[in-house]
Amino acid sequence: MTIAKDTALVLFSGGQDSTVCLAWALQRFARVETVAFDYGQRHVVELDVRPRIREQMAALDRGWKARLGDDHMITLEALAAISETALTRETAIEIAENGLPTTFVPGRNLIFLAFAGALAYRRGARHIVAGMCETDYSGYPDCRDDTIKAMQLALTLGLDKRITLHTPLMWIDKAETFALAEDIGGKPLLDLVVEDSHSCYLGKRSLRHDWGYGCGTCPACQLRAQGFRKFMTQKKTAKR
Ligand code: ZN
Repeated sequence: MTIAKDTALVLFSGGQDSTVCLAWALQRFARVETVAFDYGQRHVVELDVRPRIREQMAALDRGWKARLGDDHMITLEALAAISETALTRETAIEIAENGLPTTFVPGRNLIFLAFAGALAYRRGARHIVAGMCETDYSGYPDCRDDTIKAMQLALTLGLDKRITLHTPLMWIDKAETFALAEDIGGKPLLDLVVEDSHSCYLGKRSLRHDWGYGCGTCPACQLRAQGFRKFMTQKKTAKR
């Protein structure tokens, strides 16, 4: 694959999706920087796994090591203060009256992308890579492709600089995300995603399943477990 000379900024939370996005970007861009947001999320353990994932990723491939640049952490206490959701408070994770899970933080991705745009501008990055996905998502309206396209236009106009938002996972499901990891970096990358990325909303890393660590029952764990099972089944079928 040809490597673009540009710099890309990856929204890298330490979850399964953003870990695969980081690998995707390292495959394509000459310099790749990472950013995460600390907004008082319950699953702050997600942020703790990030340095190890970056290290492991660099150890997988010499080119990736050379291209992996700075890491940035942006604290958004204001977002926690204005949100009353199950991700930032100790309330039950369930479907609310509006049909959205109580984990929905209104406007979260809009705010993330605005900050990422400002950072990208300062770092000379023309590309932003993010793991939003419309396929087996929880219905969050700010994960939708149209929302992302609108943000790309808003950032490009508002910064007077061409910013391209890449969402490589937009139209694939969790099983295909595991498959994409394997495509990009073979078994070593797949193992890294399973072992080191974190999805569980409750921040549990004491239980190890074949799909990784987590409580096993929250929506994020269920999605990841189902995706992994489907991926493994498809792999077996393909081998026959
Ligand atoms: Zn969980």
